[in-house]
Amino acid sequence: MTDKPVTLKGPLHSFEWHALIQCPGCGFKAWIDREQFEGSVSIECRRHGCDYHETHDLREREEA
Ligand SMILES: [Zn+2]
Repeated sequence: MTDKPVTLKGPLHSFEWHALIQCPGCGFKAWIDREQFEGSVSIECRRHGCDYHETHDLREREEA
C-alpha cells in the first residue's frame, strides 16, 4: 500500500515551487514542481534515512 504525500500549500501558479508537501514516511516538508504534483515525475524525500520515493497525481482531492 502506498501513501500519498499531504499537500500543505498549493497548487500555486509557479512551476518550480508548485506545492508544499509533507512526506508520509517521515513528515519532512518540501516544495515540489508541477510535474511532480501532477504525477509525471516521482517525488523523492531528501531527508537522510528516509527512503520514500513514489509517484502520485496529487491533483485529485478527496471529497469531504
Ligand atoms: Zn521522508
